[in-house]
Amino acid sequence: MGKEHLYSKIYLNDRVVEVSGVHDLAPSWTWFNLHGHNAADNRDNNNNVDDATGVDTDASTLALANIKLQMLVRSLTENTSLCALVQHVRLNWDIDESLQVQFVELLSLYGSSLRFIENVTTMRMNNALLRGNHYTQLETLDVPPSTDSRGEINRQVSLGYIRDVVHVLNGRLTESVKHLTLFMDPVKMFNNLHRLKAPLELESIKIHLRLDIYPIMVFDPRTVTVRSLTNFFSTKTLKSLALISWDDQVFDQYEFINSSGMFQCWCPFENIEDLTFISMTFDDKGIAKLIRSIKRLKKIKLDYHRPDIHVKRDSEVYKSLWRHTSSLQFVDIKLELTDKLLHFDVREYSTLIDIPCTCPICSASAQILRELIPTETKDYTTFLDLNIFDRLLKSSVSPYSKSVDAYPSVNTGNDTMDSFLQSFNKKLGSKYRFAPQLTKPQFELLYTCLLHSMKIDLKPFIENFPNIHFLNTKRWL
Ligand SMILES: [Zn+2]
Repeated sequence: MGKEHLYSKIYLNDRVVEVSGVHDLAPSWTWFNLHGHNAADNRDNNNNVDDATGVDTDASTLALANIKLQMLVRSLTENTSLCALVQHVRLNWDIDESLQVQFVELLSLYGSSLRFIENVTTMRMNNALLRGNHYTQLETLDVPPSTDSRGEINRQVSLGYIRDVVHVLNGRLTESVKHLTLFMDPVKMFNNLHRLKAPLELESIKIHLRLDIYPIMVFDPRTVTVRSLTNFFSTKTLKSLALISWDDQVFDQYEFINSSGMFQCWCPFENIEDLTFISMTFDDKGIAKLIRSIKRLKKIKLDYHRPDIHVKRDSEVYKSLWRHTSSLQFVDIKLELTDKLLHFDVREYSTLIDIPCTCPICSASAQILRELIPTETKDYTTFLDLNIFDRLLKSSVSPYSKSVDAYPSVNTGNDTMDSFLQSFNKKLGSKYRFAPQLTKPQFELLYTCLLHSMKIDLKPFIENFPNIHFLNTKRWL
């Protein structure tokens, strides 16, 4: 592999990247190979300990990612001409901040080709960028959040942070910027902190919605005179919108949401091609209205705060997708699946196995299930424990699918086929002595059977959307 290719796009991952055997996933990126690490050194943190091996996989892959970044920084320091090969970088929330600051500083000093730097999540990283000469050519601007303390609510924002934000906007919000990431209400930001002469000609915007509390003297509602987003962002150029919710709350302090609703306020941006809503409250009518107002939708990802929410086939959102049959390429909507392979009959207190596909794999799977879950089973808790399909769909065996063609497919959970099976068998062995241990070939048959059961829901997409190349309907609880 040529050096140019190796250094051009660098993705700082702290989890394993899954490589597909059938499809080249985001092949242009270079990432850390975190497979085959020695995990013995990091066992302090008890989160995500693998049931089967007792290994804290998250902490160990993170430790390895830190070592790999240290080596990368050393290479770039010893040979700064390599920095000029770097065009696109994606930083990471969890990798050691000081190492990332060193990395960013090197690129800001010597990265003459750098155009994109994503996930700049702290002011220290941003300040490192400002130390060199190359930040003015960047097409990306991430205004970092006030803190990185995820999960906290009612965060009080300091005046020092507000001064930092003003500094970032004054220094870096140039005409080169095409991709903007905010952790703040754009209406408040562009009314109170930084006035724009004309709408920004952005290609993409990502807004993190958080319940931060701002000092009243900075955000006095009476000083907000311009509310429509069309005053800040050009409706002609915006192609990609991502909203990421950090709390399942009504964001009534966000001016743009107050004025016309979370989704409706984006309806004038009819050239949007890529919509992403992460951890949102599901608003069927609002989202459908936005989808219908778009001229040519190519990608959609809908992900809801509540895991039991899914898109039904008679919903407005589902129907609105049919407006974009010729253009849609990527659909990830957490569809409600029609066929459930296992049911619990509450009147009879028995388990029903209902497999719609009649292929040899599914017939063999039915036999495995009959042995695994006797029909006279028992009570609802036992049924839930033995419902391998439900557990599979709740697991993170599938790689994260934010955008499989745009970024490497990072496995954000620590489940693999093997670890899932080991954990399932361990539970069976300890709790249900009547249940046989599943072998790997049996498990693979059941997994295939699960995929076959999705046919009825996938078929309408495959038959009606000629350009679709990614379809995810996972999440069925
Ligand atoms: Zn089948």
